[in-house]
Amino acid sequence: MKQITDHVFIFTSVVQQLNSVVIIDDDYLVIVDPGFFPGEIASIRNFLQPYENSSRSRLLILTHSHFDHIAGVPYFPGYAVVTSSMWDKSNEQRAIRQLEKFDTEFYVDRPWEQGKFPVVNTLYAMQHQETLGPFHFFHTPGHTDDSMSFIYKNVLCVGDYLSSLEFPFINASVSDYNKTLQLITELVHDSSITTLLSQHGPPACTNEILTRIDSAHAYIDELFHLVETAQHQDDIWSDVLAEANSLSYQGRPIPLGLKSAHERNLKTMWAEYHHSLNLSSIPER
Ligand SMILES: [Zn+2]
Repeated sequence: MKQITDHVFIFTSVVQQLNSVVIIDDDYLVIVDPGFFPGEIASIRNFLQPYENSSRSRLLILTHSHFDHIAGVPYFPGYAVVTSSMWDKSNEQRAIRQLEKFDTEFYVDRPWEQGKFPVVNTLYAMQHQETLGPFHFFHTPGHTDDSMSFIYKNVLCVGDYLSSLEFPFINASVSDYNKTLQLITELVHDSSITTLLSQHGPPACTNEILTRIDSAHAYIDELFHLVETAQHQDDIWSDVLAEANSLSYQGRPIPLGLKSAHERNLKTMWAEYHHSLNLSSIPER
């Protein structure tokens, strides 16, 4: 466990360095993306327990519907679930299947009946810019359609954006992703943000936030340039892919374990670029 401010703490999982954020406020007790392994979740529950009293509302905030972020939800039955109003039920279903696959492949023992993971029951579906107590929520799509960020005092919690561990994972839309980076930049400038919590890896202070935003833009620009050049030269998909695989991120080659995410980004970029030109998009040609 690491203390970030007087009220904010993070617990980091051994898997994907997933951060579960705990906020202990006078009126609220909050857990964000509680995960991942049962022992880790038990530590979070033990930490929260002394603060669970009738004067604090208990909230469980989900930044988006990926499987690593929802794995711990059923362990916190007394907490009201808060998601984006754009919560993507079909993505949640895919995530639950992925989680069941993970748990059965690696024999992770969770106490659900017949191994079936309960569905997420949202109590507060937050609109863009809506507040709940001291928490100010923003829709930040691009990574997924249902990604959500929020501000608490000077801390901005952004889900899977701006991690120091990975390049942007653009699972939904490049143009949304760019708009989200723009929104985060504005929030950092306008809302006296001093700390950014990404859900994977270490937090960032003000200067580093801006450096991470620059890195994310640079990566997206490079992919865009690649796709644009390929279209002009009428390159085939395998050429573009080979070029993409030779790109580096922050001075290092794309790690083996992230190549599929990188390729997915390229496909998303390719499809959106060709769609914007009203051209048919056939990445596999
Ligand atoms: Zn994610």
